[in-house]
Amino acid sequence: MTDSRKTRCFVTDLQFCPDCGTVLPNPNKKHRNVACVRCKFEIPISAFDGIEIHSTLTVNKPMGKALSTLTSDDAAGPLVDRTCSKCGHEGMTFTTRQTRSADEGQTVFFGCPSCKNQEIEYS
Ligand SMILES: [Zn+2]
Ligand SMILES: [Zn+2]
Repeated sequence: MTDSRKTRCFVTDLQFCPDCGTVLPNPNKKHRNVACVRCKFEIPISAFDGIEIHSTLTVNKPMGKALSTLTSDDAAGPLVDRTCSKCGHEGMTFTTRQTRSADEGQTVFFGCPSCKNQEIEYS
């Protein structure tokens, strides 16, 4: 006589409205409840936890990749020890760009993350 089951058996039926049997929309994390389109019966989104795993299993994997592509972007280069001449902010973003002819050297772009001031230096 051990009946320790809670509401587990109820979980598998959550694709359908328990009230009228209509197929429920997919749980959206922006909302607290999933509402039946026909009878407006609402089910708290936490009840979908067991089901959700199957459909969103691969979603939160490529986090590391997104971060590395961000730093290689021109606007978000590495910070260098340089003081912004406009606002005095210490540490500016640093981007180099090779100019057309080799004897001209490279152009260095500094960007202030604080006031968005841009400084260009030719070396
Ligand atoms: Zn319903
Ligand atoms: Zn600045």
